[in-house]
Amino acid sequence: MLKLTRPRIQEDAITKVVEILRSGNFVQGHNVRAFEEALEEYLSVRHAVACASGTAALHLALLAADIHEGDEVICPAFTFPATANAVERAGADTVLVDITLNDFCIDVSEIEKSVTEKTGAIIVVHEFGQSAEIDKILALADSLGLEVIEDAACALGTEYNGLKAGTFGLMGCFSFHPRKAITTGEGGLIVTDDDDLACKLRALRNHGISLEDGHQDFLYAGLNYRMTEFQAALGISQLAMIEDSIVTKIRQAERYDKALIATDVIRTPPLFNNRRATYQTYHILVDDIIDRNKLIASFKAAGIETNLGAQAINCLTYYRHKYGYDPDGFPNATKAYQQGLALPIGNHLKDEDIDFIAETLIKLLKNI
Ligand SMILES: *Cc1c(COP(=O)(O)O)cnc(C)c1O
Repeated sequence: MLKLTRPRIQEDAITKVVEILRSGNFVQGHNVRAFEEALEEYLSVRHAVACASGTAALHLALLAADIHEGDEVICPAFTFPATANAVERAGADTVLVDITLNDFCIDVSEIEKSVTEKTGAIIVVHEFGQSAEIDKILALADSLGLEVIEDAACALGTEYNGLKAGTFGLMGCFSFHPRKAITTGEGGLIVTDDDDLACKLRALRNHGISLEDGHQDFLYAGLNYRMTEFQAALGISQLAMIEDSIVTKIRQAERYDKALIATDVIRTPPLFNNRRATYQTYHILVDDIIDRNKLIASFKAAGIETNLGAQAINCLTYYRHKYGYDPDGFPNATKAYQQGLALPIGNHLKDEDIDFIAETLIKLLKNI
């Protein structure tokens, strides 16, 4: 089976993790801070706060921004549901905004009409490792007096105008799940340039403990969202090869683009001069005349794992029940949910695998 993704784990990382397991020092040692420092340098940010998952990162960011019951938070309607779930768990209400089918990110022109006096923040998702139109979003948020939180869970290394996604807003959140650019098994990160927010994030992830002036106090009803030492050691090794992994994926994406260019019933991922996509997912949109689910089943029969790319939040039971959302309210999100297809990409694949997957797709589309 050609898998969608496969984590790339090097021998030095395995040795490091085993050393930590032998040492017995699993939490709150120097590896987590060393991983954070490496990420601060890679992303050119003042503060990187490692945590238990991308979902934990989003939850912590919303708590640190003081988002609470009675607030509304704007989210793109097409994303992995953790984005909206974090808003709900912070006690706020999720206000969905449709995406564009061009970049699968929030439609900037649709944001303003969803803003009310209750709006507490805008969450921007850099979907599939493609940056949203972050400059326009920041300008709009600024004019409305709103803060932007970036869900860059799939976008570590992604760039907009030469700057890293996740570093534009008040805070940026990342995931180190095995399907993301680098992995620590489970893991996440919040970045910010704000010193006070960084302090608050560090306290909130660690039971609300503040250690200032050598004196321990509990400033918040915090959580335990810490990362372990062996996860951080794995992360340090992963981060050292991220650029190599990104370059491989960009090359594979170009190979797919070329092989699929003549196929008029699919749309390949967009290319923008001022954005560097990192292809966490190589996501295509197939024409309405094609049954996407049947295509996934046919791929599977051919030994190729494919899947839908992300969910339309408006189509999910919890959100339909709570808000009365329906598929028609967010046509682009619903279409991407129904007609989007993720193809395998990553270091586990050779050029001939990419060619085989592209040829299989072309063959399958002819028979539908
Ligand atoms: C993966 C992902 C998350 C959740 O990250 P976890 O580490 O799995 O909790 C959140 N948002 C987006 C856009 C994601 O792709």
